[in-house]
Amino acid sequence: MIGPARTLFRGRPAYIGLACAGALALYLFPLRDTPAQQPEIGIAVLAHRGEAAALKNWQATADYLTRTIPTHRFVIVPLKNATLGQAVAEQKVDFVLTNPGSYVTLESTYGVTRMLTMRYLHQGRVYSEFGAVIFTRADRDDIRTLADLEGKTFMGVGKDTFGGFQMAQLELQDAGVDPFKDLKRLEFAGLPQDNIVYAVRDASVDAGTVRTDTLEGMATEGKIDLARFKAIGARPHPGFPFLISTRLYPEWAFARLKHVPEDLAQQVVIALLSLPPDSPAAKASQSAGWTVPLDYTPVHDLFKALRTGPYADHGKVHFIDIVRQYWQWIVGLLVVMALLLFNILYILNLNHHLREIKQRLEASNDELRRLSSHDGLTGVANHRLFEETLASEWARAARDQTPLSLIMADIDHFKLLNDSDGHLAGDECLKLVAQTLDQTVRRPADLLARYGGEEFAAILPGVDAVGALAMAERMRAAVEGLHLPNHGTGGLVTVSLGVVSAVPRPGTAAEIFVGRADHAMYQAKEAGRNQTRLAA
Ligand code: GH3
Ligand code: MG
Ligand code: MG
Repeated sequence: MIGPARTLFRGRPAYIGLACAGALALYLFPLRDTPAQQPEIGIAVLAHRGEAAALKNWQATADYLTRTIPTHRFVIVPLKNATLGQAVAEQKVDFVLTNPGSYVTLESTYGVTRMLTMRYLHQGRVYSEFGAVIFTRADRDDIRTLADLEGKTFMGVGKDTFGGFQMAQLELQDAGVDPFKDLKRLEFAGLPQDNIVYAVRDASVDAGTVRTDTLEGMATEGKIDLARFKAIGARPHPGFPFLISTRLYPEWAFARLKHVPEDLAQQVVIALLSLPPDSPAAKASQSAGWTVPLDYTPVHDLFKALRTGPYADHGKVHFIDIVRQYWQWIVGLLVVMALLLFNILYILNLNHHLREIKQRLEASNDELRRLSSHDGLTGVANHRLFEETLASEWARAARDQTPLSLIMADIDHFKLLNDSDGHLAGDECLKLVAQTLDQTVRRPADLLARYGGEEFAAILPGVDAVGALAMAERMRAAVEGLHLPNHGTGGLVTVSLGVVSAVPRPGTAAEIFVGRADHAMYQAKEAGRNQTRLAA
């Protein structure tokens, strides 16, 4: 690295020397023949009482600084709370002179640094802290504590004014009174604060809050009688002479922006610390000069507690922060939830399948039951179901002492039909006869069964002999009415029927019943077939 540098300068030492000397001269003796060429240093001042008032208060201080630090020209830039932040953000000013609330906000947001805290004079003593007094009329016996203000009317300077409301807001909040919810009415009167004092005195509001020393100042000026007022929630601070209801907070701050060079900041601090309390500049600003910076933590604490100013979001949980901090857990949880969901869906699907299978099983069971109880050829009840039904109906009729009837029907000369037309034609004939008989026996309690071969039986619970005979006759007529030819006989297919009816005696069996019906049926055969006989 040294080689090329040497090469660069070799042969031209005279020029280099001259340029360096010039630059050094400019640095040490900058051109400042006329004031206009002095660098201008902007001091932003919070103009809470208007631009004119701010200039009137602070112009003397700016002039004092220009006189004390002649290398720079200091100017006052009065700004409203709303535009102060922007001016600082854009570095349009170099210093800021503002109230503690505003200072803390600028410090948190733009990193301005306090260099000095303002002092003020009271009865020959200087103070650099202040607070607020919450007060009412001395004769208001109903208002003794801050909690008593619930349901009362209240007046402050403005919602976002530090000494004019927020200090009181914190104390009320700590006393369990939310000024925005628990008061009967909350009014903001703006500046001057005198109006709030008069409103309380004239009873147009129950209570109010103003900066400490306001009441005492008005009393000194003869505007009010201090004895007619009392502080609520008064908390005396040792060595602090005014009525006060709040904690103490540091006074206005003189702060520098980040870009201000160290040496300039140092000169300003020295100049302002040397400003006597009774100097014209101090008097104009209604202060008593400046002192080393106080601790502004109480102001931070107030904003944190009220969740306002730079801590508007304090304590609020932001979704994105949670995601950032716990993303592994969130991903894990999502995976677990996805697995759970998958499992649930899987189980639901399984359940659905199981239900389907169960339904199919039940259907096959029903079919099995039907198959086991019904005749395969004709579809009517089979012999087994006949036996079961007869036994149960017999028992029931015996128990209830109601009549029970049984009809046995046998196709006439069926052997001959089989022989002439074949077994298949015989089967077809059986089916037709079975269906016809089944359609004739229609009551729900009735049962038509294939007893065996070409013999059918009808169980008729609750039907007496007369009814059963009528039913048998209908069955006979129905079969004859089919007009099925029996080529074996040359006539029609007919049936012979035997009927039995009784009120069963308890403890007897149904077997003899069948025998008696059978017997009556053979009597019908003997009598010439295609007829009905009632068992004796
Ligand atoms: P009867 O008037 O005296 O009753 O004369 P029948 O010919 O009907 O006499 P029987 O009761 O002796 O004959 C019954 C015949 O029915 C015998 C058998 O071949 C026939 N048969 C029994 N079951 C079936 C069947 O399932 N299908 C066919 N096609 N024929 C059957
Ligand atoms: Mg027979
Ligand atoms: Mg027969």
